[in-house]
Amino acid sequence: MKVTVIGTGYVGLVTGACLSEMGNHVVCLDVDPAKIKILNDGGIPIHEPGLLEVVRRNVAAGRLEFTTDIERSVAHGTIQFIAVGTPPDEDGSADLQYVTAAARNIGRSMTDFKVIVDKSTVPVGTGDKVHAAVADELAKRGLPEMEFAVCSNPEFLKEGAAVADFMRPDRVVVGAEDERAILLMRALYQPFVRNRDRLFIMDVKSAEFTKYAANAMLATRISFMNELSRLAEKVGADIELVRVGIGSDPRIGTHFLYAGAGYGGSCFPKDVKALAMTSAEMGIPSKMLKAVEEVNEEQKMVLVDKVVARYGEDLSGKTFAMWGLAFKPNTDDMREAPSRVIIGELLKRGAKVQAYDPVSAAEAQRVMTGWDGLSYADGQKQALEGADALLIVTEWKEFRTPDFEAIRDSLQDKIVFDGRNLYEPELIRSFGLTYLSIGRN
Ligand code: NAD
Repeated sequence: MKVTVIGTGYVGLVTGACLSEMGNHVVCLDVDPAKIKILNDGGIPIHEPGLLEVVRRNVAAGRLEFTTDIERSVAHGTIQFIAVGTPPDEDGSADLQYVTAAARNIGRSMTDFKVIVDKSTVPVGTGDKVHAAVADELAKRGLPEMEFAVCSNPEFLKEGAAVADFMRPDRVVVGAEDERAILLMRALYQPFVRNRDRLFIMDVKSAEFTKYAANAMLATRISFMNELSRLAEKVGADIELVRVGIGSDPRIGTHFLYAGAGYGGSCFPKDVKALAMTSAEMGIPSKMLKAVEEVNEEQKMVLVDKVVARYGEDLSGKTFAMWGLAFKPNTDDMREAPSRVIIGELLKRGAKVQAYDPVSAAEAQRVMTGWDGLSYADGQKQALEGADALLIVTEWKEFRTPDFEAIRDSLQDKIVFDGRNLYEPELIRSFGLTYLSIGRN
């Protein structure tokens, strides 16, 4: 099939690459010429395990192309995926300007039937707005009769495991009401859901809602565990033991029960906000989502609070090593990363921070340009050099079994503040380190 993917970010590039892997001929469009140049030069603009190989293979086979040429991209695909960003507006609602712009571009130059698929995470009712934008452009061209269908196909991939998630999805949700669109979408996704029927066709609004409901549920689990972790500390319980104790109940399950330094990333914070906005607009303000957000904001401060409890408010003269900057492992994504809040709070109190992250240093430098007192190390050991204490903010695999002796010998104060509960407290303490983690002190 001929497919166009609009937006070559984390979602669009993975979608385009994985669809081409199944034999489709995919053209990916982006308005950012720098991204398209990187792609046309044989690279990829993001860190995503396994993606470069899929991209290179399919470019070489002639099935995957990248362009900034809107007319060409509109002409190419019968199916047009919109996978552009939907960042939060000032009031927390989703900013739909990029989605609308993409839709208008399609309406401005399409010459035959198109299935326009919204893959971006968008509020309920956006399908109607996309429809109206395309229809408006066709009307301007004197082509009000030209046919098209608008579908919703929210994306559930996880950054860091995006290729695997796309190739073997838990489920594919398609919101579509047009018979031709349903037929094409079924055909497109059939190779990805061959051994079990995981393709759910529903109405557009329910599909749009499903994505927000999923992210809100996951964020709720995290905030719930974070809140419990604070109580666990007070009553002298260990949140990690509580986690396995409850997670073994199949009604609860083991996923997303990890207490930590707060959730971040490009999705949970903005999607919780956007759903809360929709609830408020509908006259039923969500008490739960407000609490989920509040708990998360406070949770980003938990490591800072522990540092301040140890050293006092004035941190001048103190240097902290930080392991991990990205909002989660296996990505370079720094959007809403808790590390940014933690570093800001430490610097504000006069401390210096020596940060190390396996892949996100360049992105971190971009989003924290000019932050005085923040420097970047090339490795775990370099970050420790001359530091008083270590903070762990992202649970990269390489931090899981570190050289505890080297940590002890490098750190002036021999303290580890662990925002991801990576170590057995008894083990790390046996190396002579003071260990402060989340919900188990
Ligand atoms: P991103 O910021 O990485 O990429 C968006 C891309 O769209 C950018 O490259 C931008 O230049 C391009 N763009 C903007 N306007 C355009 C236009 N009119 N025409 C062509 N290109 C345009 O965003 P992302 O992380 O890939 O997220 C995209 C959407 O998918 C968002 O709605 C997000 O909520 C949702 N989503 C993201 C994830 C994730 O893990 N990142 C997962 C599921 C869903």
